[in-house]
Amino acid sequence: MDLFHKKYSCEIDGQKFESENDLMDHYHTVHHKTILKCHKCGRQFIHEKDRLHHVREEHEKEMDARVHKGEHKHKENLSPQDQVDANMRNFGDNF
Ligand SMILES: [Zn+2]
Ligand SMILES: [Zn+2]
Repeated sequence: MDLFHKKYSCEIDGQKFESENDLMDHYHTVHHKTILKCHKCGRQFIHEKDRLHHVREEHEKEMDARVHKGEHKHKENLSPQDQVDANMRNFGDNF
């Protein structure tokens, strides 16, 4: 039974760590792995594919969302001034 609820385990020898940083430190010092860093948030990875996956999931989505928002700029709406004019006319009728 794991009383410590350690979430991060070494892929090579199964040793468990409480934080991702501790695990990365272990990979580097014990297994001499090259630690890859995300250029945007500094998160560390040992596999290039994991880093690419992270960038795609965490950062490229943000950029996509911004681009798609921009596309809806030209939507035509009733101008606020038209609505104000309509309300003013109704007020006049009540007096
Ligand atoms: Zn290990
Ligand atoms: Zn990142």
